[in-house]
Amino acid sequence: MITGQNLVGGEWQSNNSSKYFKTSNPKTGKNLSISFEQASEDQTNLAVDSATSVFELYSNTTLKERAQFLGIIQDELKILKPQILYCYQAESSFPEGRAFGEFDRTMDQIDRFIDLLNEGSFLQATIQTQSPDLRKTLVSIGPIVVFGASNFPLAFSTAGGDTISALAAGCPVILKAHPYHAGTSEWVARAINNALIKCDLPLEIFSHLGGQSFTVGSQLVMHPNIKGVGFTGSFKGGKALYDMSQKRIEPIPVFAEMGSINPVFILENKLKSDINLAEILGQSIGLGIGQFCTNPGLIVIHDPREETDFINSLQMKIKELSLGPMVHSQIESNYNQQLIQLKNKKELLQVTASENSCAALGVTSASIFLENLDLAEEVFGPFSLVVQCKESSELLALAAKLPGQLTATILGDINDRNILQKLLPILKEKAGRLLFEGVPTGVAVTQAMQHGGPYPATTDCRFTSVGSDSIYRWLRPLSYQDCPNELLPAALQNENPLQLSRKVDGVFTNSAI
Ligand code: NAP
Repeated sequence: MITGQNLVGGEWQSNNSSKYFKTSNPKTGKNLSISFEQASEDQTNLAVDSATSVFELYSNTTLKERAQFLGIIQDELKILKPQILYCYQAESSFPEGRAFGEFDRTMDQIDRFIDLLNEGSFLQATIQTQSPDLRKTLVSIGPIVVFGASNFPLAFSTAGGDTISALAAGCPVILKAHPYHAGTSEWVARAINNALIKCDLPLEIFSHLGGQSFTVGSQLVMHPNIKGVGFTGSFKGGKALYDMSQKRIEPIPVFAEMGSINPVFILENKLKSDINLAEILGQSIGLGIGQFCTNPGLIVIHDPREETDFINSLQMKIKELSLGPMVHSQIESNYNQQLIQLKNKKELLQVTASENSCAALGVTSASIFLENLDLAEEVFGPFSLVVQCKESSELLALAAKLPGQLTATILGDINDRNILQKLLPILKEKAGRLLFEGVPTGVAVTQAMQHGGPYPATTDCRFTSVGSDSIYRWLRPLSYQDCPNELLPAALQNENPLQLSRKVDGVFTNSAI
């Protein structure tokens, strides 16, 4: 059963003075029956104080204990899977295949962090035995606030990558549930709470708070004991939270993953020779009803004599797309409003809309785009803008004008090498992931993944929010100088009790000192 209550420091609490809100089914527009309580300021403070009180204990748990905890979270998610997925589909209207797929992805992500904890090298233990004896490792930063993301109710929300990476790093988490899927979020929070009980860990390690007026999230970010924030959503939201965090007496890192139009550059010879391009790009634009942060929102083609059929073919694909409703009516109305604004710019671009869905495609020229750089703003949904370049110099000029992106894709063949070599150094400055084949949608959860690019794609391009390296957001280096062996953390002790591969006097070794 879910109750709409808040999980505060391990206790499901009701708050009589609370404001209530409901979630709705995007397909029917009908509200679900349950009312969710907005957390009060007292509850918000209690959640953070509780997390603070157990931080030292939790951050000192062994890597094995944390790996076991994450494994039990998986078990509890499996037990509640029918309820989670029922609520997920009611609150998102995503089809069954997507629901099961996102659940499996969430479990796989947890597996990656269990592997990381079992292996241990992420602690980066570095030892210098000459005088002074210096030993450095990574330690947890403190209680973290995670904002659930509307477009991924499971994989980027309550037990998603941000929460699991923070828990793996030894940081307690306060989850600010996304108000569009508060029910799904509560079911998942129950699984995490049950896992804490089964592992005999302090329940204060995880709190789950609701609200939809920016109040709870703002109070959490401003609380002096919060040490970091994970966020996926709009540029406006991410930037507002980042700005808040920098005005605190003690500024803290906010790892916000915001908008991106993920440009795809199709070079002249590739455009002429690959007849499948329109098909794969059309599918990618419609994937997840366009609500992926890696959606290809800009397609730049080099077509000097306008002799290819690419635009026509892509327009046909977009017209044929049959998609479900967007994840929430607010997102749908934001999207429709942006489309109306684009359609009103008739002198700038031609917009073709699908007959069966909300998908649409814009077409414009490089010269117009370069004079109207607001066309580079994200339109969150199944929309992409094709920009035609007659000269390769236009394509390079356009690339140079783009803001920071999560991804950039260059599709070229062997005869496009000359321009590819000029384009690559420009795009290297712009994106966190460069693709040379395929489409940017589909983000592998592996150690080599980078999901984070230069501002404004994210607030800190040095880190990733997907893949096991995302743990580094919640860790900081600490050096111990001439510290007695028994006071050192296990990772740095002479005996090497964790059997880690450590860098000792410049050489990687598993041996004791
Ligand atoms: P959002 O508006 O960015 O909100 C996400 C979270 O941030 C919510 O929990 C919200 O708090 C909080 N928030 C937003 N603005 C805030 C502020 N000024 N102060 C404090 N907290 C703030 O994203 P959304 O609700 O998911 O969707 C709205 C739009 O964001 C979409 O239409 C789309 O354009 C964009 N979006 C982009 C991506 C992407 O990957 N690029 C993903 C999702 C959404 P409350 O819960 O209290 O309301």
